[in-house]
Amino acid sequence: MPRYEYKHIETPCPAMGEVFEVTQSMKDAPLTQCPHCAGPVRKIMSRVSIMRPTSNTELKEKGFTKLVRRDKGVYENVTAYGKEARYFQANKPETMPDLNKRISD
Ligand SMILES: [Zn+2]
Repeated sequence: MPRYEYKHIETPCPAMGEVFEVTQSMKDAPLTQCPHCAGPVRKIMSRVSIMRPTSNTELKEKGFTKLVRRDKGVYENVTAYGKEARYFQANKPETMPDLNKRISD
């Protein structure tokens, strides 16, 4: 479920702080009151709920291996680097991404 940020319009309560996060269903109406002190709150555009897609380059830099299924038993290693095979075929173990190398990095 997505998380939303709310901010106290008036005096923040110590329990929740000025800005707090609430996990809500998208179907739920936005809160108008703090669940703790019942003071008025407003929803703020949350940085948390805006999902920025992580690019393949970023994944690669972070050392992740991302395989994208291209065909039956064929996966493209979109984060391949060095001598890693670009395509991983399930029936060809030599095309398996070199995970050990990354772990020891
Ligand atoms: Zn409160």
